[in-house]
Amino acid sequence: MQTQRVLDEFKNEPFTDYSKPENAEAMRAAIEKVRGELGREHTCLVNGERISIDAKFQSYNPAKKDEVVGVFSEVDDDLSIVENAIDAATEAFKTWRFVPAAERAEYLFRIADIMRQRKHELSAWMVFEVSKTWAEADGDTAEAIDFMEFYGREMIRWSREQPITKIAGEDNSLEYIPLGVGAIIPPWNFPLAIMSGMAMAAVVAGNTVVLKPSSDSPTIAAKFIEIVEEVGLPPGVVNFVTGGPPTGEAMVTSPKTRFISFTGSKGVGLHINEEAAKARPGQIWIKRVVAEMGGKDAIVVADDADLDSAAVGIVQAAYGFQGQKCSACSRLIVDEKVHNELLAKVVALTEQLNVGQPTEGDTNVAAVINKRAFDTTLQYINQGVEEGGEIVTGGTGDDSQGYFILPTIIDNVQPGDTIEQEEIFAPVLAVIKARDYDHALEIANGTEFGLTGAVYSASEERLERARREFHVGNLYLNRKCTGALVGVHPFGGFNMSGTDSKAGGREYLLQFMQGKSVSRKV
Ligand code: NAD
Repeated sequence: MQTQRVLDEFKNEPFTDYSKPENAEAMRAAIEKVRGELGREHTCLVNGERISIDAKFQSYNPAKKDEVVGVFSEVDDDLSIVENAIDAATEAFKTWRFVPAAERAEYLFRIADIMRQRKHELSAWMVFEVSKTWAEADGDTAEAIDFMEFYGREMIRWSREQPITKIAGEDNSLEYIPLGVGAIIPPWNFPLAIMSGMAMAAVVAGNTVVLKPSSDSPTIAAKFIEIVEEVGLPPGVVNFVTGGPPTGEAMVTSPKTRFISFTGSKGVGLHINEEAAKARPGQIWIKRVVAEMGGKDAIVVADDADLDSAAVGIVQAAYGFQGQKCSACSRLIVDEKVHNELLAKVVALTEQLNVGQPTEGDTNVAAVINKRAFDTTLQYINQGVEEGGEIVTGGTGDDSQGYFILPTIIDNVQPGDTIEQEEIFAPVLAVIKARDYDHALEIANGTEFGLTGAVYSASEERLERARREFHVGNLYLNRKCTGALVGVHPFGGFNMSGTDSKAGGREYLLQFMQGKSVSRKV
């Protein structure tokens, strides 16, 4: 293998400034290149071999609902492919686990290099496949690069001598070894960053994996798999299978998978957790489950807050990527004394948002992921109104071309209402009035979730109270609740938001390893 590079300290990948003509030009060129590659078939990868079957499914452009982005083998129709992938990973694990950490990390650094070279192209695939605007797609690609650079460095750190107490007469050490074969089941909403981060965190720790992308975003995963092949990872280390829930289920229930790394909805996460807990014939371990799930994230605005700054943060966090981030602000909890003033500002900014095709550089809000999301969002909006909410702006959708829903604000929502409790995952903001700051914090903590949250206040004491009492994995003070950066804001939530695994944080890799303590008498 190539000589290892001298590592700098980890730094976040800078975002692209599309106001610069050369960057906008590069993105337009990438979009045209990708447009010319739409509708192609992408195969599975099992033990380094490309595999396809007759049964197929398509992924579509949510903003142009009849435009096919990619064609894939429907592995649900032939689950023996999953079995073969798990067998290949089991075999590859026998040697991959002993490859030195620095060498494993080097593969991630090379993946990051290629992602950097193909940045706009990767982003353009996300524009077509999941309807990300340019800036959102660029953020996703940058985060994917960050995960490679960060986890590579982290693995090198974990492979060094670990601090333990020394005693006379023994030579003692603690080392972290990998677990085995992992089932990697990511969501569609960060189709490059979360997908590649989950897969490669496990791989750099010495595990081998079977990766099943979401059926809504398999093409971007296929593009990542091309890079995995290019850097020459040994066959069987990363296996790629495309399918729906039955494929995922087969990965979860196999007695040969040692751990499951899942990011997605609460319902599926709980189901996976339950299935993984059953020891099946031939299974000799308790499976480990890393599950990152949904949120019902709130921004609290106190009566002493800078309302202009709050309004900007609220609109960015509520409508960035159409509200389809697990961190998105879906509840605005505002002190009733400043409710009218703040709401006027939020509505004004919301109505300035440009809703349109994500291929256009000036679009702020594009389509939601699919017809199901479109239909359930409109149902939630209706339910919000039936339960007493008032639509202040938006409230409608148009699916003649793609699945577009206007950025929606529903005022007069009460704590406990359906749209105040359930994750909608769309551009819908529920506004709830609080009597005072105490009441606001109580409402904020009043769901089963605990992912992100933000508080806007000028008071040190109130911010300090939020630090102690607002029960979320990622708390932001006087800033928006989206936009976590790798290394800077380790990300993951409490309660039904998941196992708080803190992606992009220093302890993340430990979940894919186990500590082995070795004592030698001297
Ligand atoms: P989802 O739960 O519908 O699907 C996630 C993955 O699970 C997909 O690959 C899907 O094919 C697979 N799957 C579905 N049923 C399965 C089964 N029975 N067995 C095995 N696999 C199965 O979620 P989604 O719609 O892709 O993603 C959106 C959700 O993800 C939201 O709830 C969002 O909040 C959450 N999310 C959470 C985080 C976080 O860090 N906490 C990050 C991103 C997204």
